[in-house]
Amino acid sequence: MFAERLERARKAAGLSMSALASEVGLSANAIKKYEHGTTMPSSSNLLKLAKALDVRSEYFFRPTKVKLEGVEYRKRASTPKKVLDRINGDVLDQAERWQELLELYPDSVKPIPEFALPDELPEQIFSLEQAEDLAIQMRHAWELGLNPIHDMIDTLEAKGVMIITTDVETDKKFDGLAGKIGSTPVVVISTAQSGDRQRFTLAHELGHLVVHGRLAEGIDEEKACNAFAGAFLLPTQSLIEHLGEKRRHIEPRELLMLKHEYGISMLAALFRAGQCGIITPATQKNLFMLFSKNGWRTEEPGKAYPHESTYLHKQLVYRALGEEYIGESKAAELLGMSVSSFRKERKLEVPTQAQLAQEASRAAAAN
Ligand SMILES: [Zn+2]
Repeated sequence: MFAERLERARKAAGLSMSALASEVGLSANAIKKYEHGTTMPSSSNLLKLAKALDVRSEYFFRPTKVKLEGVEYRKRASTPKKVLDRINGDVLDQAERWQELLELYPDSVKPIPEFALPDELPEQIFSLEQAEDLAIQMRHAWELGLNPIHDMIDTLEAKGVMIITTDVETDKKFDGLAGKIGSTPVVVISTAQSGDRQRFTLAHELGHLVVHGRLAEGIDEEKACNAFAGAFLLPTQSLIEHLGEKRRHIEPRELLMLKHEYGISMLAALFRAGQCGIITPATQKNLFMLFSKNGWRTEEPGKAYPHESTYLHKQLVYRALGEEYIGESKAAELLGMSVSSFRKERKLEVPTQAQLAQEASRAAAAN
């Protein structure tokens, strides 16, 4: 157990064996032996390793029971293997803390719902338009109507999708990944991405859960998931209500307003306008060219759409503490915090993540 977890923590920290060795004052060979399970470190070396890898020493002895299966990465360009290793390590660590938390709840209490798709979905879809229709059917089944979805994370969590956010520095090359832990779907998004991009990833991954196994031959799943995501975030009917049925040209400012109302990038909104036949392919192409010329494909103009955050894990840790399923030290461990900083947080002596996020968005709005 120790050997495997040391290797994972090392990769998650982005360190080679020799880099870790020099940080803790051991030989690379010693690290290699630990990772091969041929020797065990002394307790003082164990503490040094934990410190260097920024984990608590309990981490090394937590039984590895979480397996993230069926992983699909969403990435902008080719994400370096080293970065993927770090993300993987971070995600597994968080997923384990999730799993452990859920197991600490008594069987009679179900803190999160089981994910299930509505029964009435069609068995097979034959076109991208039908993938869009599926998005609308999901909205109806989940009673979301056709209005903007203010909180995608909350919406998915309420239906039993586990959302994990990772801070691993990715240079914006990584959008997210999805997989399953047991029967629970898990979606991972990067905190480095803009809010609209995070939301598109969340909707795209929901698309995979919905369309998977329903696509007729020849329909590309990635394209279907993008069509699903676009329609889920910004339904055709809502788009037509805003832009009109047919347009000769669209002002970029209109796209910016759509972005802020529906939490979808200007580029994706423009794409939707073409998809829905509001503008001709030629007009769409001209606008795409305008986006390229102005560098808006890399960074969109105007105020950014705010990031989304997940609070569910923390909420459930506090709930478990409140119900005395766990004590303070376990709560701190589940949150990956030291007991002393957890105590401060518990006594409301430090601002919560929600307050910090609120402050940040207030500051951004003031700029
Ligand atoms: Zn995908």
